[in-house]
Amino acid sequence: MSHASLDAIRLAIRDVPDFPKPGVVFKDITPLLIDAKLFAGAVERMAAPYRGKGITRVVAIESRGFLLGAPIAVALGAGLVPIRKPGKLPAARERVEYALEYGTDAVEMHRDALAPGDRVLLVDDVLATGGTAAAAGRLVGARGVALVGYSFLIELAFLGGRERLGEARIEALLQYS
Ligand code: AMP
Repeated sequence: MSHASLDAIRLAIRDVPDFPKPGVVFKDITPLLIDAKLFAGAVERMAAPYRGKGITRVVAIESRGFLLGAPIAVALGAGLVPIRKPGKLPAARERVEYALEYGTDAVEMHRDALAPGDRVLLVDDVLATGGTAAAAGRLVGARGVALVGYSFLIELAFLGGRERLGEARIEALLQYS
């Protein structure tokens, strides 16, 4: 068990104003990842609510979700499934499109990544408007498997993203309001 405090984890996240565009305060997790103790502590804390819940697959959202989802999968004794932007996954895949402020975006998952009986934990670094995570949840749900919950490192609560994620459990280590 790691002893990294929540405060230490919070302090390791760097705010970068106006990235990638004016008005956005980007939550940069690289200073957290670079610190072995804080990284391990964040992974353990993100996994903890889902221990003993029979998670068989951690589904991680491109691309910073991979950095957290992979060690969480190992911690939970689960397999790892990547959800990617269109055109990245090589084999037969499912796609879900979702609305952006202007236009649409899409996420994809391999068709054989999940099977009936799987119990899924969805992982990403930041819950912002919830559009990406909701689309990922639809991809998982469309496979007829149990979406047990979501685990985020950061929730930008003022954007109300959790309202878009339906009934599944939602855990976020750090909340910003
Ligand atoms: P959304 O679909 O609005 O919830 O956006 C979620 C996705 O965008 C996640 O994959 C995040 O990595 C990324 N994201 C959104 N807002 C931020 C932010 N302020 N800082 C870092 N990443 C963000």
